[in-house]
Amino acid sequence: MTSATPFPVPLPLYAIGLGSNRRHARHGDPRRVLLAALGALEADDIEPVDVSPIITSEPIGPSRRRYANAVALVASPLSPPEMLARLQRIETEFGRRTGQRWSARTLDLDILLWSGGAWSDGALHIPHPAMAGRAFVLGPLRAIAPDWRHPLSRRTIRQLAARLIRPKPVDQSVAAH
Ligand code: AMP
Repeated sequence: MTSATPFPVPLPLYAIGLGSNRRHARHGDPRRVLLAALGALEADDIEPVDVSPIITSEPIGPSRRRYANAVALVASPLSPPEMLARLQRIETEFGRRTGQRWSARTLDLDILLWSGGAWSDGALHIPHPAMAGRAFVLGPLRAIAPDWRHPLSRRTIRQLAARLIRPKPVDQSVAAH
């Protein structure tokens, strides 16, 4: 008997969130930053499987910033910490300034989901803790993985997206006055 499996074992899948709200000197506006980042993500050990449409927002508010967001599905044998290290290296290559949590970012890469389920080691939490409350994440993710179940809430991405955009019930007692 051999230890080799008689069928190919599928590689783990990751859903990676991409965001940008800053021009890059070489790549251009945030949408182009994401297109370049999708290229940078591909490697010998990271195989692109699918990518959502890139959603962009018109600039609003005093900063007049444009935002671009997308989600990529990739297959990779990398462990979650290895994947995070790879993403952080790409962010640095794109010139993200660390330590400025809410400031303009050239590129932000997050691990949203992993087919291995949940992961938590202090520096890394999967599923990404904020994903269920972010329309700019759930919208693109629904376009490519509507049936993926959030491993903690057990709800599908389709369900989470529907909950987020559902109108709040009107309080009739207040509405009547
Ligand atoms: P942020 O500035 O929101 O992109 O957060 C970056 C920090 O969040 C990094 O230092 C990571 O260690 C940590 N982190 C925790 N969970 C995740 C995740 N699922 N994906 C990316 N970064 C994460």
